[in-house]
Amino acid sequence: MAEAPCDLLVVGAGAAGLTAALAAAERGASVLVLTKGHAPDSSSMHAQGGIAGAVGDDDTAALHAVDTERAGRELCRPSAVKVLTEEGPARVRELITLGVPFDPELNLEGGHSRRRVSSVEGAATGWAVTSLLGRRVARTPGIATREATNALALWMDGGRCLGVLTPDGPIAARATILAMGGAAALWARSTNPEGQIGDAIAIAFAAGAAVADLEFMQFHPTVLAGSRLLLTEALRGDGATLLDDKGERFVDELAPRDEVARAMVRKGRVWLDLRHIDRGRFPGLMAEIEMAGFDPATQPIPVSPAAHYTIGGVVTDLVGRTDIPGLFAAGESAATGVHGANRLASNSLLECLVFGRRAALAALDEPAAPLRSETQPLEPPAPPPARTASQELRAQVWREAGVMRDPADLASLVRSPDAVASLVARFALARSESRGVHYRIDATAADPAFEGHFVLRPGRELTLEHWT
Ligand SMILES: Cc1cc2nc3c(=O)[nH]c(=O)nc-3n(C[C@H](O)[C@H](O)[C@H](O)COP(=O)(O)OP(=O)(O)OC[C@H]3O[C@@H](n4cnc5c(N)ncnc54)[C@H](O)[C@@H]3O)c2cc1C
Repeated sequence: MAEAPCDLLVVGAGAAGLTAALAAAERGASVLVLTKGHAPDSSSMHAQGGIAGAVGDDDTAALHAVDTERAGRELCRPSAVKVLTEEGPARVRELITLGVPFDPELNLEGGHSRRRVSSVEGAATGWAVTSLLGRRVARTPGIATREATNALALWMDGGRCLGVLTPDGPIAARATILAMGGAAALWARSTNPEGQIGDAIAIAFAAGAAVADLEFMQFHPTVLAGSRLLLTEALRGDGATLLDDKGERFVDELAPRDEVARAMVRKGRVWLDLRHIDRGRFPGLMAEIEMAGFDPATQPIPVSPAAHYTIGGVVTDLVGRTDIPGLFAAGESAATGVHGANRLASNSLLECLVFGRRAALAALDEPAAPLRSETQPLEPPAPPPARTASQELRAQVWREAGVMRDPADLASLVRSPDAVASLVARFALARSESRGVHYRIDATAADPAFEGHFVLRPGRELTLEHWT
């Protein structure tokens, strides 16, 4: 028997989930935040470079929108970009008011035409923002939190979402927001915490929601070899260079991430030379590199690309609404179309703040869940087993849907028993062109015939849609 439903169930305690929970509780809603692991398990905690937002005197939302759309290679949904860039500055200023200790100077990152990235100690932004939001959630009386609780499936009845099924029983809510992050840890080389294997995509698709843009996995070029430690783009912005095994530069370090990643894969073994940058600007990161056994002051350090950011996800409108009544998605779990085929650096934390809040406000308008608990209690189904990703599966996804993709490999991955791995391969096979972060070795140029978003609804064929 389910416990009494809350107004809003938020699955995920990263930037999107915490923002949604606080926005709903401020309006008097009862909120339950559920998380698979513990607070440090979110990508939000690990975010480094910062949060984009047109807050500088020489900047405007329109300029931020132009840069976002240029990065997205003809695929950004213009209405979503407008929302992100116009509401972004207010969300960043709210964080300042809440006490996030942003560095005094705005940073310039690749693809941005203005200094518009707010950061904390160069590379500690995610930790600073997420831990502050987490402390506020803990202090807010209307919000309860449950850690180490895996959402295994949606609780569905008559096509409506009533909440989620967990190993400890069902959890009912008037509305549910999936803020469960992305799928990048499904790839063997990844910057994401281990649990980020695309559970939102798996459970929403299994329940009948549409998913989109799953071919677009952004690979970050500079990740410390043999680890998940990302070495922020800001280092290259400050003059760090990439060297091959002869000690020679081979690529413009500030070219778009996808170009740098491909140049590195073609080279094989690559090192990042940090010897000439001001290491005092990145104290936490330098300490982590040293803890991993490297001395950035004396030797270039080995790096290689890793899966980093899931552009696709559960299809939503501009207030996080999915195809399923009662179900919303926000942050990296959602596919709003805002990033097109390539995410502009530092737009994803902003996406969490802007769309997390919007989803919460829209979710509060949902009618009460028809649990009929007094007269005819609904019997929730037994939950399915937890989804896991073995090392073997992660290695296969890396090999067959990596930085440069061969259609024969993708055809093999389509047969994977893992639903998300198979979906990624289906999308990547369908897009027989190269655009943004998706690169096909058999079709290396963009093709105007593919200027749209691939969308899949359970039981149907993939369709190419044009989102305005
Ligand atoms: C190393 C690194 C550096 C980055 N740097 C930047 C940056 O500088 N700027 C920027 O804009 N972006 C950056 N990003 C991307 C950005 O951090 C993420 O896109 C963003 O934080 C995603 O937030 P989210 O709230 O959507 O998900 P997450 O922060 O990933 O949170 C997901 C939550 O869902 C929970 N969850 C997952 N599955 C389940 C389940 N089955 N049941 C219950 N709970 C579940 C997790 O436990 C977690 O609490 C970086 C990412 C990484 C990994």
